[in-house]
Amino acid sequence: MDAEERRRRNIERYEARVRQVRRIKRTIVIVAVAVAVGVTGIVWGAGHRKNTGTATVHAENDTTAQAVTATPTATPESGNDAAVSGVSAVSDVTAGSAGMESDSSAASSSAETAAGFGEVGETVAQAASEGAEAVSTPKYIWADMTGVTDGSVPDNDPSLQEGTKKIIYLTFDDGPGPYTAQLLDILKKHNAKATFFVTNQFPEYADLIKREADEGHSIAVHTYSHDYQTIYASSENFWNDFEQMQQIIEQETGYRTKLMRFPGGSSNTVSRFNPGIMTQLIQEAESKGYTFIDWNASSGDGRVDTTSESVIAESEEQCSYSDTSVLLCHDIKQSTVEAMDEFLTWGEQNGYTFLPMSPYSNSCHQQINN
Ligand code: ZN
Repeated sequence: MDAEERRRRNIERYEARVRQVRRIKRTIVIVAVAVAVGVTGIVWGAGHRKNTGTATVHAENDTTAQAVTATPTATPESGNDAAVSGVSAVSDVTAGSAGMESDSSAASSSAETAAGFGEVGETVAQAASEGAEAVSTPKYIWADMTGVTDGSVPDNDPSLQEGTKKIIYLTFDDGPGPYTAQLLDILKKHNAKATFFVTNQFPEYADLIKREADEGHSIAVHTYSHDYQTIYASSENFWNDFEQMQQIIEQETGYRTKLMRFPGGSSNTVSRFNPGIMTQLIQEAESKGYTFIDWNASSGDGRVDTTSESVIAESEEQCSYSDTSVLLCHDIKQSTVEAMDEFLTWGEQNGYTFLPMSPYSNSCHQQINN
């Protein structure tokens, strides 16, 4: 073997080793990438389940709704506000009389809800397969409070106080949040009850849902994300999001709820990017036995520029139009919470009772605009 031959063989051996090392390196990279992808998936999955995303305030978005029976007019600057532009006579809603397209649906909704309540409390053993555990029918807040399980309107429904002529149903949307505990203290001081339309926008305050329920307030679903683009993109999206909030309510209180409010109200126009979605969701809500609640009076706090003074003034004016008002407020607005002490005092001095809502109270439906 001459020198040239040895040099050629050395080069071949060297190149073979290089190829081998490259193969090994490639294998290591592939394995590493596979492991990394797997770990990322797990981490993402965990993060997604925890839903640690930041919450946003959507209060102003509730202002697009327009009530049907526009009667007493409101101040010009509140023209955008749903309830302000149409303080529909509550008698329409309460009695289900003429003038509101949604009256019939309101009535049927109540009936279905009442029927739905008949099932509550009965424990149904559902053996999915041999040896399966008995599954209890979920309990609903109002059935348990009243003890009525035959579908009839309960005598002791706290939303319908016999002989109470002037009622204000305070409704607080979008919380619980940083000011909710303060609000609960104020309500307790006045022995006033309210209805909370809860979301998961501030998950660190979720435990306040239990306090709300324990202190005699009503709990209603206002969706988990309150994200219009997501929830109104499809019926499936909406009910998935809705169910996530039901589960939080159930975790916190042990009960589900039959009450709900659509973000933006049933008359919102934000959802028009998906034509007809509100009509569909309202039908589905009713067939599922939910009572959706709108409002016929507004504190105006959906706007960005509100103050405690404006909330007090607008709430007093709006609630004066009718003996029964469903007042739209947001407990994620500090100025609203700070207005409540004075507003409740005004209500007491003017003979109003502040009651929680139930499926048997009026639900104050607005006109569907999509
Ligand atoms: Zn809202």
